Amino acid sequence: MDTQLSRDLKRLFETRLNSAMKMYLETCTRCGNCLDSCHVGASIPEIKYTAVGRAEVIRKVFRRYFKMQGSFAPWLGEVLEFDDGTLERIYEAAYSCTGCRRCMVHCPFGIDTQQLMSIAKALLIGADKEPKLLSMLSDMSIAKGEGIEETKASYAEAITNLEADVLALWPTAAEAEGAFSRPMPLEAKGADLLYVGLAGAHSIVPAAAIMNAAKERWSLSFFEAVNFGAFVGDSRKMKAIAQRIIDEAIGLGVKEVAIVECGTAFRVMRHFMGKQPFKVIAFVELIDRYLSQGRITLDKSKITEKVTYHDPCQIARNGGVIEEPRRVLRALTEYFVELRPTKEENWCCGGGGGLVAMGEMEFRMKSSKVKAEQMRASKAAIITTACENCHSQLSDLNEHYALGMKVEFLSHLVAKALVRPGQSYRL
Ligand code: SF4
Ligand code: SF4
Repeated sequence: MDTQLSRDLKRLFETRLNSAMKMYLETCTRCGNCLDSCHVGASIPEIKYTAVGRAEVIRKVFRRYFKMQGSFAPWLGEVLEFDDGTLERIYEAAYSCTGCRRCMVHCPFGIDTQQLMSIAKALLIGADKEPKLLSMLSDMSIAKGEGIEETKASYAEAITNLEADVLALWPTAAEAEGAFSRPMPLEAKGADLLYVGLAGAHSIVPAAAIMNAAKERWSLSFFEAVNFGAFVGDSRKMKAIAQRIIDEAIGLGVKEVAIVECGTAFRVMRHFMGKQPFKVIAFVELIDRYLSQGRITLDKSKITEKVTYHDPCQIARNGGVIEEPRRVLRALTEYFVELRPTKEENWCCGGGGGLVAMGEMEFRMKSSKVKAEQMRASKAAIITTACENCHSQLSDLNEHYALGMKVEFLSHLVAKALVRPGQSYRL
């Protein structure tokens, strides 16, 4: 590696050294409490796949360039210089971590390994060694924002073609006349809520039916919620991707933005984009609110098998949305059972941090063995979740480990159980 790149990487590292980061880098006592926290380390017992093992790669670079020991006595070990081998170790640490933050729950100092891996990801971008697919997908999202006016007409046409599917789940639009008389309103002035979906009808149609049943004055976003900038650890791109939605929400004057079942998109919008003139909610929170306000009712006779729920890390542990999906599930079925461990302690699905988007099938399956075991132990026939990424990973695990479960989005189960006016249902 040439000296200039090494200097640039050092400078880049320095820009990330805020007080929290310094604490994470200097505090670890190697107590070992986090050794069994990480689903990767628990599934593949190698120190490099534990939280502390990953963080140690970044700590060694930190010691080399920012501590006395690294400058005057590097021969004592415990340091790493920037070179190709170090970048490979940084890559392996960063892209074997899903950013689930389960390790942080068990660390007595609250060391946030995901944050340390954000330094790793920034260094990889600085060295032009980040996964190019994630950068390319980020750029495509940003370009879509820049050229949105040219694509609006074709998007509107595609949406019109899905109207019959929405009406099959719920027979009316939110209102009889005006902007909300379409099953999926677009650019609806006066909307209270902007719903942001993903690419694919599955992320829009059931949600539309639920919002129409609740008579929500809503409008559908032109953008997909997914944020590849967050996956690749590029904060500039992450913000640019989220900003497209913020501008759209402000333009419409909505009071709330509801994010589709996508954990990372929700966390970015709620926690990383600062204060906005609207509230950000996860779609599962919206369903819970409709139920508590009596705006929708669910037919409990639809599900007669044991159902469990996978808490998406970015919605539950890192987003604080834990009881809402449970209230929804209890309104939906008598057969809800918890995964063990559950809630903040739930095992990560193993697909976050960009791994599902990158493929990485072999690693994802091996590194999530504990997740598959947890799913099997629930003895549930259905596993439901509120995140697209988790849904993909759980589906792959279900097939790979022959678990014989059905993997469902929570919103899909809700949309299929909506009680129509005049319809009776079993309590
Ligand atoms: S954030 Fe999750 S995947 Fe990363 S080290 Fe911690 S437990 Fe493992
Ligand atoms: S639990 Fe915290 S202090 Fe202990 S080894 Fe892990 S990161 Fe270090």
